[in-house]
Amino acid sequence: MNHRTIPFHRPDITGAEIDAVTQVLKNGWLTTGEEARELEASMAEALGTTHAIAVSSCTAALHLALLAAGIGPGDEVVVPSITFVSTATSVVHTGARPVIVDVLPHTHSLDPAAFEAALTPRTRAVIPVHYAGLPAEMDTLTEIARGKGIAVIEDSAHALPASYKGKSVGSLGEAGAFSFYATKTVTSAEGGMVTTDNEEWAARVRALRLHGLDRDAWKRYRADGTWRYDVTEAGFKYNMPDTAAAMARVQLSRMYELTEQRARVVRAYDEAFAGEEALELFPHPADRESAYHLYPVKLNLPRITCSRDEFLEKLAVCGVHGSVHFIPLHHFTLFKEQAGNQPVSDNLFERVLSLPLYSGMTAEDVDYVIEVVRDTLKECRR
Ligand SMILES: *Cc1c(COP(=O)(O)O)cnc(C)c1O
Repeated sequence: MNHRTIPFHRPDITGAEIDAVTQVLKNGWLTTGEEARELEASMAEALGTTHAIAVSSCTAALHLALLAAGIGPGDEVVVPSITFVSTATSVVHTGARPVIVDVLPHTHSLDPAAFEAALTPRTRAVIPVHYAGLPAEMDTLTEIARGKGIAVIEDSAHALPASYKGKSVGSLGEAGAFSFYATKTVTSAEGGMVTTDNEEWAARVRALRLHGLDRDAWKRYRADGTWRYDVTEAGFKYNMPDTAAAMARVQLSRMYELTEQRARVVRAYDEAFAGEEALELFPHPADRESAYHLYPVKLNLPRITCSRDEFLEKLAVCGVHGSVHFIPLHHFTLFKEQAGNQPVSDNLFERVLSLPLYSGMTAEDVDYVIEVVRDTLKECRR
């Protein structure tokens, strides 16, 4: 097969997204306004939550959800070691301490037993991550948290749309945080969303996302608005502009179509790699539906002669660009004092890689990735 280049990810933007953004550019209101409000309404309806509050990123969403939950100095928040760093830095910014725990070897999501072992009288929240789009062990985690004053805040950055036992992620805990970052399943280039059924939390998130003003700035400029406002606490500049919201609205309306496209790629990979003894495939538990954000595989290192890094490098030479999700949090200088108690994550990090996965992959693209992976495995076989 001829040499091709398969990027790790490519956003799926149609004329509809371009038209929606163009319309906002033409209509004279660029920042948070009607588009953001419509996006919030569609998101709440799609997920089945009472509130959805648009913000500038999932990192901002996590930060505000934690603040709404009353998390602050002296508190502890349990986070999995395998996640993007902002799951933990959002905790740091509240003044609380992230307590990093190990993950399950198969689904790579927060290990309920590790959560339970990490509980102290200061534990005030837990942030399960729906890794690769697959919902975490929500029943067990919420059961452990129940009655102890521990908020469950779902890091749903990978998981739109995904569900657990028929319920949407983002509606399973006290709050959910979503990402519309460029590589995510639904994108507005940058953006995020807080979901919750809690009226008070929603009000607090709304105020904190825009400087702590007591009413949204856009209302001040409407015909019936007023220039006067009050500030009751120091908020943040975390609002989502309408340019982004307009794009996210179109993407949200396409989310099942986009997911089906990624599922098609996942099925092809699964089928092709099923017999490969040097690869361990990611599971698909029957009680949950994945958003198929990532296609992680683990190398069975005793069966091959090269390291994960060398393997990725060999794929890249053939034009197939993989990635790694994630560098465990306790490997970073910022959190290194917490290293030593996450053996599953350490083992995972040695051998995990993510193959290209995006909705616009053609059958030829997928076949090429499969062929390159197979050839590389053959070359490295012990
Ligand atoms: C991407 C990501 C985030 C951060 O999302 P942003 O919108 O870029 O802030 C948080 N958690 C996880 C697991 C992510 O993958």
